[in-house]
Amino acid sequence: MTNSNQHEADVLIVGGGVVGASIAYGLAEEGAKIGILDAEDSDFSASRGNFGMISISNKGFNNLAYFRLSYASSRLWPEFASTLREQTGIDPAFDLKGKVYISVGDREFAAHAEKVAEYARRVGAEYQHDILNRADLRQMLGNVRLGERVTGGSFSPLDGIAEPLKLYSGLLNAIQRHGGSILRDHRVGRIQHQRGIFTVEGPWGSLSAPRLVIAAGLGTPDLASQVGISVKVRPQRGQMMVTERVEQSFPYPVSGLLRQNPEGTIMIGVSTEEVGYDDRTTVSVLRSLAMKAIERLPDLGSVQITRCWAALRPRTEDGYPVYQESHERPGAFVITCHSGITLAALHKRLLPQWILGGRKDALLEPFGLGRLQSASAA
Ligand SMILES: Cc1cc2nc3c(=O)[nH]c(=O)nc-3n(C[C@H](O)[C@H](O)[C@H](O)COP(=O)(O)OP(=O)(O)OC[C@H]3O[C@@H](n4cnc5c(N)ncnc54)[C@H](O)[C@@H]3O)c2cc1C
Repeated sequence: MTNSNQHEADVLIVGGGVVGASIAYGLAEEGAKIGILDAEDSDFSASRGNFGMISISNKGFNNLAYFRLSYASSRLWPEFASTLREQTGIDPAFDLKGKVYISVGDREFAAHAEKVAEYARRVGAEYQHDILNRADLRQMLGNVRLGERVTGGSFSPLDGIAEPLKLYSGLLNAIQRHGGSILRDHRVGRIQHQRGIFTVEGPWGSLSAPRLVIAAGLGTPDLASQVGISVKVRPQRGQMMVTERVEQSFPYPVSGLLRQNPEGTIMIGVSTEEVGYDDRTTVSVLRSLAMKAIERLPDLGSVQITRCWAALRPRTEDGYPVYQESHERPGAFVITCHSGITLAALHKRLLPQWILGGRKDALLEPFGLGRLQSASAA
């Protein structure tokens, strides 16, 4: 694909993070000619700095539609991961192995058990989550030493993990194998629309297509406003760290705390901070993450940290995904969410048919921007 004023793609996707790439992969597999325009490598990128959890059991406590969306994605993940591996030779290391939660103190344990029970009441039979006493928890974790104040916890088989950087490179590889173009250093500044054709422009030139997907993470609002869509996306910082390689000690990821990778490193995290566009790490937050982990699993105290980093989640106003086609400029779509790993399989499967002119799947319907307008009117 070359930069010119000709209409050379069926769909242009602005934003080459995991959200844009998952959609592009699905579109390219459907036979659409696609081009991804991505900004500089130095730009904010949640897709290069995340924890890689396929999180279901903590989704949608106040929004059943969000639980259903996430759950549906987890059911699509096995086929998504195996197809990606077969087509590219890159294994995203997906494993729907479940997730453990560890409680400290009686009060935290009681509150957690109550929340799990309430979840089950709200969601119904699909919600699987067992409460564990301290002995059960210890057995589940392969007799790992528990902190003195650990009272118990829980296990949910609904959750899984993937290796986020392998997933991301696999997606980019698959897109290219299906004939898609990935244009780096192609920041889009301006979007024009004439006679059903969108033209995106930047210092690099311009490109045109009859369909346009804006999936630019934190860059989404400025672009969306040019196709008549008003959406707010704010940065939310997450810090985490990774340890040296140690022998396999944690058969399951521990919710809000850690996961052990196949090669032995342990990722510890993740913070949730409202600090604007600041993606630096801070000693105080990293220390509190490490102390939380050691309080629950004391043997971590002797493991060396080798690297730490921070990245910014793109968060919508109410925290739920946005899947919106422009009323003013039909053919332009805005798509953003803060659980792009969890939802990657669903994005690949369900979004292409809608973008190519088919119906919007019922699972996606609750996530138009109309919900925010009705909430603010209420
Ligand atoms: C610390 C942390 C932990 C996380 N853990 C998990 C997890 O365990 N599970 C999970 O499901 N999710 C997790 N997430 C969230 C997940 O990483 C994001 O939902 C996902 O990466 C968002 O992808 P994206 O493509 O929308 O955004 P990004 O990855 O930020 O990509 C947006 C892209 O758009 C480009 N762009 C912006 N403006 C323009 C423009 N004008 N022109 C062209 N390109 C532009 C940017 O350069 C960037 O490449 C985590 C996030 C963080 C930060």
